[in-house]
Amino acid sequence: MIEIDGSAGEGGGQILRTSLALSMCTGLPFTLTKIRSGRAKPGLMRQHLTCVNAAAEVCGAEVHGIELNSQLLSFAPGSVRAGDYSFNVGTAGSCTLVLQTVWPALLMADAPSRLKLGGGTHNPMAPPFHFLERSYAPLMRRLGANVELTLRRLGFYPAGGGEIEVAIWPAQDKLRPFDLKDRGAKVEGFAECFAPALPRSVARRELEQLGAALGWSTDQLREAPARQNEGPGNALMATLVYENLSEVFTQFGEKGVSAEKVARDLVREVRAYQVCEAALGPHLADQWALPLALAVWKGQCEASYTCTELTPHARTNFEVIERFLPVRFSTLGAGNGWTVLARPA
Ligand code: AMP
Repeated sequence: MIEIDGSAGEGGGQILRTSLALSMCTGLPFTLTKIRSGRAKPGLMRQHLTCVNAAAEVCGAEVHGIELNSQLLSFAPGSVRAGDYSFNVGTAGSCTLVLQTVWPALLMADAPSRLKLGGGTHNPMAPPFHFLERSYAPLMRRLGANVELTLRRLGFYPAGGGEIEVAIWPAQDKLRPFDLKDRGAKVEGFAECFAPALPRSVARRELEQLGAALGWSTDQLREAPARQNEGPGNALMATLVYENLSEVFTQFGEKGVSAEKVARDLVREVRAYQVCEAALGPHLADQWALPLALAVWKGQCEASYTCTELTPHARTNFEVIERFLPVRFSTLGAGNGWTVLARPA
């Protein structure tokens, strides 16, 4: 039984999701205490309950402590079963975080799986759908894991109602770690504004501000089409495509926050990435650690990546991963970024 302290390091929901994912992949049971004690509302919220229930369904786990606000959980996994699954957060909570909980285990299954996920698709403090589709999934495929993501409907706080479909193919004998040290040549950059059920002027102002600050032309600024029954919501995204990877940066508009401020905050994020040479931005840097560690474990060879920032999320994730897998992380400051090395223990 692995004992994980949920208050360690960053003290958020990622400790829970990484523990669930790797418990399913390794068959090792765990207990988690002080769940999300680093957050204003600690314990299991609705979206975390969905993650635990999804994990339990995928591997037939024995679980204690699945209750709203619970700060103590024990999870004993059974064997992972491929299949067709449907998980709905039931609120605007992020359904992409549910995907990240079960995705690694379904890669280890012996047959393909299909997932239908309902909830928020574009939430603050979670990977937006387009980040997973453009940044994360292509890197997973390069690792040997074939995944396809389809956005059926956007979901924003507070209404939710978003829907994503995902197809996952078994990859356990195919995972091969690789080094990701530079971005390669720049291919293109573009911005999109998703603002369903809001006046069109909101999207236009955000895009104009962003374009002016980054020196982007009008054909790089795109007002995304809205489907029926979507929104209201507002996500402004900048996508930077390089030879070796794509990065997607997102800011959210909300009542009382001007379109200009949303654009300014996104410009700051994009510039912070552009002034560095390292490959991965801050969010990819923490999320890439888990699939890479699985590939290092399965392939029994080391691999590294460079990143612009090492956030508390990244460092905490390394520590949790090391509790489950015979993989060790080391980090080294390099120029104005970092190099992260993952090697078999
Ligand atoms: P936690 O705060 O512990 O629930 O973890 C949140 C997760 O969402 C981390 O893996 C973050 O890197 C990720 N995340 C938050 N915001 C973004 C964003 N704008 N783009 C991509 N990933 C994000």
